[in-house]
Amino acid sequence: MDAVAQNIRCSHCGAPVEFKPGELIATCKYCGFTTVIETGQAFTFDHSLLLNRFDQTQIETPIRDWMRGGFLKPGDLAKKAKLSEKNLVYLPFWVVAVEAKTTYKGIFERITPAIVKEGKLEKEYSWLVLARKASDFPTREYNVPLEGKIPFDFRKIEGFAKVLNSEIDRDYALELAKTQIEAHHRFLLQQDVDKILESKTELNLKQMVYLHAPLWFIKYEYKGNLFQLIIDGATGTALKGDIPSAKFGLL
Ligand SMILES: [Zn+2]
Repeated sequence: MDAVAQNIRCSHCGAPVEFKPGELIATCKYCGFTTVIETGQAFTFDHSLLLNRFDQTQIETPIRDWMRGGFLKPGDLAKKAKLSEKNLVYLPFWVVAVEAKTTYKGIFERITPAIVKEGKLEKEYSWLVLARKASDFPTREYNVPLEGKIPFDFRKIEGFAKVLNSEIDRDYALELAKTQIEAHHRFLLQQDVDKILESKTELNLKQMVYLHAPLWFIKYEYKGNLFQLIIDGATGTALKGDIPSAKFGLL
């Protein structure tokens, strides 16, 4: 398939719904109706939205705050940096609400002689899976403010914003969540045992929500170089930012 956008007709309003190769779930920008591309059928799971609280001028406040905060930044960053791009993008996520139970057996070596320990690790999560394949988005750093979510409403999406479609279906998202939770539990188990002999994780799925969340992708210029910053549009929190090194600032 070539990289040209294709379209299907929205089965709700009849408008063309654009999508790109690799996208599996598309949302109509005229009526907000969400369609499973392969079948052309309506998407039947919960589709939620987190609201963005900033316009293109207001977003400069959290940007400058981030530039001023912390010691690692050049002292004149907030003053000298020029914002070259401010893009609001609604990124698609799957939020997997689960109870995860890992039973394990391992060797505890911190006493002599070492002993075999068995145990159970039980946790509840709203585990976030980014519904895009290629991205360096810092999903684990993103503390998604779920309490603010509302049913998806296209009227709340700003005209200048971009809404990305999902490239990952529900089943694959669940599989990814499972793999990631297992890895996370193996990491946590290091507190209890030094060597893991066996571990098995079972998930009890409680709910799965498809969610669009507002993220600002900022590019700024400082002393002739470009840097990136990502800000959560719901809270104004900086998720990830390139910091020019102080040394660089002296050049
Ligand atoms: Zn429509």
